[in-house]
Amino acid sequence: MHAPTETTGHTHEATGSAIVTRFAPSPTGYLHIGGARTALFNWLFARKAGGKYLLRIEDTDRERSTEAAVNAILNGLAWLGLEADGPPLFQFARAARHREAAESLVERGGAFRCYLTPEEETALKDAARAEGKAFRSPWRNPDYGTPPPAARYVVRLRAPGDNERIEVADKVQGVVTTAGREIDDFILLRSDLTPTYMLAVVVDDQDMGVTHVIRGDDHLTNAARQTALIRAFGWRVPTYAHIPLIHGDDGKKLSKRHGALGVEEYRDMGYLPEAMRAYLLRLGWSKGDLDIVSTEQALELFDLEGLGRSPSRLDFAKMDSVNAHFIRLADDQRLVSLMREHAARRGLPDLRLDDAALVPAMAFLKERAKTLPELLTQFSFLLAERPLTRDEKTIKALSEEVVARLARLRPVLAAVETWEHVTIKTALDDFAAHEGVGFGKIGPGLRAALTGGLPAPDLAIALQLLGKTESLLRLDDVM
Ligand code: GLU
Repeated sequence: MHAPTETTGHTHEATGSAIVTRFAPSPTGYLHIGGARTALFNWLFARKAGGKYLLRIEDTDRERSTEAAVNAILNGLAWLGLEADGPPLFQFARAARHREAAESLVERGGAFRCYLTPEEETALKDAARAEGKAFRSPWRNPDYGTPPPAARYVVRLRAPGDNERIEVADKVQGVVTTAGREIDDFILLRSDLTPTYMLAVVVDDQDMGVTHVIRGDDHLTNAARQTALIRAFGWRVPTYAHIPLIHGDDGKKLSKRHGALGVEEYRDMGYLPEAMRAYLLRLGWSKGDLDIVSTEQALELFDLEGLGRSPSRLDFAKMDSVNAHFIRLADDQRLVSLMREHAARRGLPDLRLDDAALVPAMAFLKERAKTLPELLTQFSFLLAERPLTRDEKTIKALSEEVVARLARLRPVLAAVETWEHVTIKTALDDFAAHEGVGFGKIGPGLRAALTGGLPAPDLAIALQLLGKTESLLRLDDVM
């Protein structure tokens, strides 16, 4: 009944059929970072090949699945820019189809109805375990007996024979062989005739035309059982790629503390979606010595061969530097909008300046920010309202002597015609020379007056960004 194992590695490529991948999250919580990475890999692989990337919501666990989680997953994927080709498929809605598939497998002999009572089942399972074998139901034997009338039954896979072998030619893990005796006659339909997860996945993948399954290696053992079931159906086995899970920076299993957070929390921490994609890509995939790979590049380069076998570690310092890279590349107007959204989401006051003031400043200020909150910090001296509140250090910096010097500087600045950092810088240098002091005698006081101690760039640039009027008013405030 079970054909000898065929290696499935290149089947789809060889037949030239279009590639179809899917991401199949269970909506029992937010879209966590591992799920986001799985989605990304499936999306890249399909899009690169001109195939389809589909989304399936595995909501068969009715007690744990919630609508809030479905929304969190959809929103997280949308934020990441990983839109599926077509509407999501909800697994629970397909229960009738799953049942029909199982019953048809019974007709064809690949599955059977099992009438064991719970007590019988427990006894048989204990015996099998004692022998180190997988459980087999006596009802797999068509001659076992006549079913008791009106008795409840479950439908089980007629698992491969003890001496058969199931091979999963995994793109990441290599060929993983499972002996037939390790696969039990697992349940396809429960006694209330609801489908099990194992059945639903296999039927859905078949009906969706899935050619490649890229998912976490916590599903590797499922792959053997699913392969056994797929073969019983006589369907084509997809190409598998089971990717190692993401670990914390200490190499331990990812927990909340390490950053096992919902994707939306990364958004709220101020990461850009393109940076998240680039970071997640390299968390488990590599090619040569490429470091930061943009999505555009990844759409040309991504391959299953580049998937690594060892678990990757979540590293916030690296994520920050990738984000800084994409902040530098991002459009200034977009960054201003993101900064406004970020402030709103954090419940901070609206940014009081309009885009005309903020966008030109972005080119100067984004160089020093790794995240959106850091960008806000860079802008804080601009956004602060006069009169500035000053910390103790800045008050100290504004000694009588310093203020007197600032008073002499004011008309010099007022006389600058073209208010640009280059001309401003010349004016400042000339003033220092005229006063017969180094710039070190002027800078700290001027900075204190202009920023109140908030971080700010080079003073000539800070003056340019503040504008002439505001700069002079801030000087007046300290006099
Ligand atoms: N629903 C499963 C999960 O969330 C994924 C199943 C699969 O990818 O085959 O882990």
